[in-house]
Amino acid sequence: MKVTDILDKRMAFSFEVFPPKTDKGMEKLCGKDGVLSKLMSLKPDYISCTYGAGGTNVGKNLEVLDQIKAQGTIGVTHFTCVGNTREGIKEQLQTYLDHGIDHILALRGDLPFGWTGTGGDLHYATELVKFIRDEFGDKFTIAVAGSPEGHISCRSIEADIAFLKQKQDEGADFIMTQLCWDMDQFRWWMDAIQAAGITMPVDVGIMPVLDAAATINMALSRNGCVIPRPLAEIISKHWIFPNPFAPNESEESIAQKKRDFKEAGIEYTIRLIDEYRVCGIHGIHLYALNKYDDVARLVKESGIKDM
Ligand code: FAD
Repeated sequence: MKVTDILDKRMAFSFEVFPPKTDKGMEKLCGKDGVLSKLMSLKPDYISCTYGAGGTNVGKNLEVLDQIKAQGTIGVTHFTCVGNTREGIKEQLQTYLDHGIDHILALRGDLPFGWTGTGGDLHYATELVKFIRDEFGDKFTIAVAGSPEGHISCRSIEADIAFLKQKQDEGADFIMTQLCWDMDQFRWWMDAIQAAGITMPVDVGIMPVLDAAATINMALSRNGCVIPRPLAEIISKHWIFPNPFAPNESEESIAQKKRDFKEAGIEYTIRLIDEYRVCGIHGIHLYALNKYDDVARLVKESGIKDM
């Protein structure tokens, strides 16, 4: 079964996990009764696993993907151009195929701070898609990233959309999006990509709003994402950072604010999922952050499990 077959038929639902850095983290994710097996109980259509820029976590990425496959769903590996030679890419992709992993999210990759290029043989995701098709034919189902607000370093959103179309022309099969909380922008982008001749299904990446610091970090540390007023209000109402107006706030008060933030954030994320579902998208891809309880609550309360 291919992810594209599912996206063609009905709304898909999937998770993203990341390879933990430590053995303890790996046990928690992949061990018996670990997070992965609990996520599987929610019956996702696929689970994707991130890939550290420069291949820093290649071994663990493959271990996690082996587990995803062993647990009975489609594993999608993320893969980047950063620091990779053509020969190295060929070898790594053959290893994925040898392990039965034939779905790939083909990315340029986040450049380590201070770098101006990928430091590898390929420079953009378009080149990686072409390389995979040239070397491996149709052996891989290829997803590519789409940025509804425009990639942070694109020279214009029109140029960014044109490069997305080029990824389709090179043989990409579907789009997985960058997080976007700005629904007006997202609706504009859906119309714009359609007008540009992009027909690939759109699987929307949703970052659950669970923690104030993580939310701000995800929005602003790399992607320059808009934080819409309702989300900014949730952050303000449960402000936990250094505050000149409450210099001696107790630990209990801060802990309570974190709990309240999470409640408001889950409610916000569910409403966001509702809005996305009526935008002509093809799938919901939840960034599971290697967590189960909060993610399961989101899945159950939003109703996406039964799409
Ligand atoms: P590209 O599509 O290559 O675009 C990069 C920039 O170059 C854009 O500004 C684009 O407009 C411009 N551009 C594209 N093609 C050309 C061209 N031919 N000529 C000139 N300019 C061009 N990063 C990781 O390191 N590991 C991960 O596991 C990972 N997972 C991700 C998962 C998802 C769902 C998403 C959306 C992103 C993920 N990323 C990950 C982040 C991603 O690698 C970064 O956003 C990266 O900065 C750009 O990757 P891209 O594939 O979008 O790049």
